[in-house]
Amino acid sequence: MQTSCFIDGTFVPARSGLTFAVHNPATDAVIARVADGDASDARAAIDAASRAFSGWKNMAAIERAKPLRRLAELMLRDVERLADLCSQECGKPLAEARVEVAYAASFLDWYAEEGKRVYGETIPASDPGKRLLVLRQPSGVAAAITPWNFPIAMVTRKMGPALAAGCTQVVKPAEQTPLSALAIAELSVEAGLPTGVFNVITGLDAPAITDTFFDGLTVRHVSFTGSTEVGRILLAKSAANVVRVSLELGGHAPFIVFNDADLEKAVVGAMASKFRNAGQTCVCANRFLVQRGVHDEFVKRLTAAVAALKVGDGRAPGTQVGPLVDDAGVRKAEAHVADALAHGAQVTTGGTRVTVPGGTHRFIAPTVLSGVTPAMLCFREETFGPIAPVCAFDAESDALAIANGTPYGLAAYLFTADGARIMRMAEALQYGIVGVNDALPATAQAPFGGVKHSGLGREGGHHGIEEYLDLKYVSWRIS
Ligand code: NAP
Repeated sequence: MQTSCFIDGTFVPARSGLTFAVHNPATDAVIARVADGDASDARAAIDAASRAFSGWKNMAAIERAKPLRRLAELMLRDVERLADLCSQECGKPLAEARVEVAYAASFLDWYAEEGKRVYGETIPASDPGKRLLVLRQPSGVAAAITPWNFPIAMVTRKMGPALAAGCTQVVKPAEQTPLSALAIAELSVEAGLPTGVFNVITGLDAPAITDTFFDGLTVRHVSFTGSTEVGRILLAKSAANVVRVSLELGGHAPFIVFNDADLEKAVVGAMASKFRNAGQTCVCANRFLVQRGVHDEFVKRLTAAVAALKVGDGRAPGTQVGPLVDDAGVRKAEAHVADALAHGAQVTTGGTRVTVPGGTHRFIAPTVLSGVTPAMLCFREETFGPIAPVCAFDAESDALAIANGTPYGLAAYLFTADGARIMRMAEALQYGIVGVNDALPATAQAPFGGVKHSGLGREGGHHGIEEYLDLKYVSWRIS
């Protein structure tokens, strides 16, 4: 297991010599001590990425594709090891961690191909003596700041397009989950990625490390996935040197079930959307809006499915819901339940902590709340826990008003059999992603990202690589 910063193709301790402990949220066991890098380490990584840029960008895209594809293969080869590390760091069940490894590898594989299709343009000129060309060139050193909830996939979702475009990169992973990023770095050496193209800085002082991404002209793009609160801070910092930023921020997904929906599929979708990673995903359903005619039946079926979920250590066989990542997460989930109950909601299952033998106090019972109203905290703030609040609605226009009544705009879901309604709702929902009878829309081929307070820019699809490319217009007089 690598525990040092990865700079210029080598694992090196922090210059200060300091380390910090990484804990398993299920047991509080120390998994490893990791280099506590600071601004000086980050600058060394930026310098290494800057030195590597010219060689990497001038390499043919077809050659850049080879180590990227190889890295994807190596990740799949080592799926069990990576999944186990991921589960230890962030608590998610092993089965989900394996899916994350495959999802993470898919970004490397897909962008290895997409990098070959970064085409320029020729534009017919109004002056017959001129030729007008547009080049699309890698913008320079890219930096990435990633969250703990998908410690492998959030790295490769940024690494794939950046490196395929010809940029070099410095990644700052979340302090809870640095080991997964370092494991990717280790495999990148085996994959044959040239020295300095990919670098990882681990450390506790995120502002000090990430300030180096904004304090000069070397880093030209910063991609951040995390909370809206931190996204705002980074957006403000980007102004000084006009650094381009992509922000994948928080969400507050409405999950709308109409009377004509296939209820069985809606409940299966609700379970997948809400309880994956114990409800700690940016696209997870945060508000269930269910039309009056099927409301009681939906709550009954959802309650039965939720009550059957197995809570435990993510590495224990059969676990479906692991712990929350930290105490702040537990406090927030409990506050949302308490607030809903105080304002008239009812618990139909869950609502308490679960005792797991040998486990911490961070296991929250998967919970369904009925009788929720838009005035309650869980309908206004991102819960990030295994709590499913359900609210009844009457008309389509009511559902739309509630769904759009939030500053967030990442993912929304609707379950219905009415084609015209699907189109009306898909157009009217103020969200970057709409799942129609589909609770798991994220894939490497499609643009992922939000509107309003959920962010700027897109990851995935041919759109994702554009973030790392500059357009250059060449006007060429030939006569
Ligand atoms: P977070 O607290 O915003 O942290 C994300 C990253 O930012 C971590 O690497 C963190 O480092 C760093 N960071 C924290 N404070 C910083 C600061 N002042 N300056 C610079 N960097 C800073 O978010 P999180 O708790 O890890 O992740 C949960 C959030 O991410 C949720 O809101 C979720 O919805 C969102 N998310 C969004 C997407 C998406 O694609 N839209 C995907 C996943 C998660 P440290 O760990 O060292 O503090």
